[in-house]
Amino acid sequence: PLNTTDLIEEHRICVCVRARPLNKKELTTKDLDVITVPSKDVVMVHEPKQKVDLTRYLENQTFRFDYAFDDSTTNEMVYRFTARPLVETIFERGMATCFAYGQTGSGKTHTMGGDFSGKNQDCSKGIYALAAREVFVMLGKPNYKKLDLQVFATFFEIYSGKVFDLLNRKAKLRVLEDGKQQVQVVGLQEKEVKCTEDVLRLIEVGNSCRTSGQTSANAHSSRSHAVFQIILRRRGKMHGKFSLIDLAGNERGADTSSADRQTRLEGAEINKSLLALKECIRALGRNKPHTPFRASKLTQVLRDSFIGENSRTCMIATISPGMASCENTLNTLRYAHTHL
Ligand code: ADP
Ligand code: MG
Repeated sequence: PLNTTDLIEEHRICVCVRARPLNKKELTTKDLDVITVPSKDVVMVHEPKQKVDLTRYLENQTFRFDYAFDDSTTNEMVYRFTARPLVETIFERGMATCFAYGQTGSGKTHTMGGDFSGKNQDCSKGIYALAAREVFVMLGKPNYKKLDLQVFATFFEIYSGKVFDLLNRKAKLRVLEDGKQQVQVVGLQEKEVKCTEDVLRLIEVGNSCRTSGQTSANAHSSRSHAVFQIILRRRGKMHGKFSLIDLAGNERGADTSSADRQTRLEGAEINKSLLALKECIRALGRNKPHTPFRASKLTQVLRDSFIGENSRTCMIATISPGMASCENTLNTLRYAHTHL
């Protein structure tokens, strides 16, 4: 098991994988667990055996990441190794980004937003909230206190290439790029927050806005990217920004053959944005001239997070443990692995 001395300091990109436990549905359909995390940075996808024979390690599909979190790992622990090391970046005038990437139902929202499964929605254990809490702790430290920083939050969604403000009744927003390639989401609400509780309230507002009017919360969220940002300002000027992103589900197989045109278009848009994201992350901080920021709305609005000397990012690839999800799981692991 991981412990805090395993923390890797100072890298620009951290890529990790998180497996969730088998859920009720998987248990009732007698789906079997095909995932094992044999060490703190390795994940294996293997034959569904009740007992995995670790001596046959090489016959399995094995991937090494910065960290691998097994199904008993808490959000708090995932946070400590992923987003937490990035909080300092925004106090040092940098840009931080944390993505949750994976198939629908693999645990992206659980990881980022908190537990929305039961009636008692609890967003206090999600990475959005944990990062916000840390920001307020850091603000009180003497070094940073004297900077007189203010904290703001935004929460928006990108659906089918369009941006909607989750803190303003899903107002549709335009994205403008000026001559200096500065990107602006016009009219995006930036709410000042003074404490963690203020942030929790905004997450709840945004989340209920995200799913309102939808027949199925998951059907909608599987097709949209949610972006939650914590922005530090000093005398009105941006000092640092932390973007935390619950990406659209990466499973797209059925979409391409769907009879429904809208479904096909949305699917194509999601594919396009996840491919562009891969390229942009690979170019992170290197100021490569041909980075395809404009290839999707997602990468366009995150442009300023990928350039700059002091940009850091982490990706949490979430995977479902069942054999039924095996193909999506392998796709997720391969995609995440290209960033190492
Ligand atoms: P996604 O956002 O990727 O579609 P969710 O976060 O909604 O997936 O997770 C699907 C279901 O699995 C939810 O009911 C969630 O509470 C549960 N779940 C996800 N990750 C975990 C975990 N690590 N431990 C326990 N339950 C989890
Ligand atoms: Mg979700």
